[in-house]
Amino acid sequence: MSAPATLPRRPKGFMFDLDGTLILSNRALGSYQAIPGAREALEELDRLGIPWLALTNGSAYAAARQAPKLRDVGLPVPDARLFTPNSVAAKVIRKRDYRSVLVLGTQGVTHALSELDVPCCVPGDAEASRADAVYVAWHPDCTMEHIHIACARVLDGAAFLTASDVPFFATKEGRSFGYSCAINGAIARVTGREPEVTGKPSMHAMHFVASRLGIAVSDVGVVGDDPVAEMQMAREAGALAIAVTTGSTSKADWDAQPAERSPGLLIEAIGDLVSATQLR
Ligand SMILES: [Mg+2]
Repeated sequence: MSAPATLPRRPKGFMFDLDGTLILSNRALGSYQAIPGAREALEELDRLGIPWLALTNGSAYAAARQAPKLRDVGLPVPDARLFTPNSVAAKVIRKRDYRSVLVLGTQGVTHALSELDVPCCVPGDAEASRADAVYVAWHPDCTMEHIHIACARVLDGAAFLTASDVPFFATKEGRSFGYSCAINGAIARVTGREPEVTGKPSMHAMHFVASRLGIAVSDVGVVGDDPVAEMQMAREAGALAIAVTTGSTSKADWDAQPAERSPGLLIEAIGDLVSATQLR
């Protein structure tokens, strides 16, 4: 299905994906490269006074650690405008009053959640055997022991949450696979329970974005490179789906997407965003 050349209405604010949309990182997530035109697009929105934020499905680092790296490659992203699934998870977890959340993730994940006032524990802590929720995020050092204790908690009735259940993300070296998706698969297979996603394409993420931007969901332009993470989320929520071709999905791949995962607008270069959405 080909994307039409214009959206049904002008977005009043934007959510940008990171990997494949604003940046490409290497597989070890060590170094970043800004995608050409990304800086200009963000600066132009700032000049026009149009609100925007970035929401990545990457949960490895807190925004306060990741945003400076984006600024180092020239992207004008303040700490306060960068969000991760941990930001969304913290909101969901605090609302539900879980006493203790077993985190399968790096130290960066635990730090990010603790800073957002989430009561965390990790495998090995005494508290882990009493956790009433399990949260799976970026966890390259996951062991069978970690999966074991997570399964035991979920089988015992603990909530099962995850940052991301998307299998791939775009890197400089091509597509890389999402560790949380693989870990979720193991836990789901054993327990028969599917995880509740806090990152994209969940409605938790979509509503978090609209609320942060201070606009209605239907007025949010969701800009991304992934048919599921961004386009499906935008379509399902009634937001405005805008796709780029700089990440994991080529123009031909976009044209082959089913309606529920296809963009309302396809732009080849992120620098064209403002003119393509008819904001100038
Ligand atoms: Mg992406």
